Amino acid sequence: MSNICEVCGLPKEICVCEDIAREQQKITIAVDKRRYGKMMTVVDGINPHDLDIDALVTKLKKKCASGGTIKDGKIELQGDHRAKVKETLEEMGFVVEVI
Ligand SMILES: [Zn+2]
Repeated sequence: MSNICEVCGLPKEICVCEDIAREQQKITIAVDKRRYGKMMTVVDGINPHDLDIDALVTKLKKKCASGGTIKDGKIELQGDHRAKVKETLEEMGFVVEVI
């Protein structure tokens, strides 16, 4: 196996490509207050090439026992489910930031 990164050509011990990829893939969770005081949990930053967004929304709806949709590549869940969404995504190995 080569010790040279195929992406940047630097030795792997000083290459930061993987860190950058992980950083770029960072998923954010925010709570949005909608009309009539309704809360929505919005999950943004999902790369559809890395993750089946339909499967994820199904999983989150089940876990949060709540309704949810995909809108403009973001997942929207009814209610404030920040903790459960964070836990679920971290279990899947994603870097998650709660806003
Ligand atoms: Zn590299």
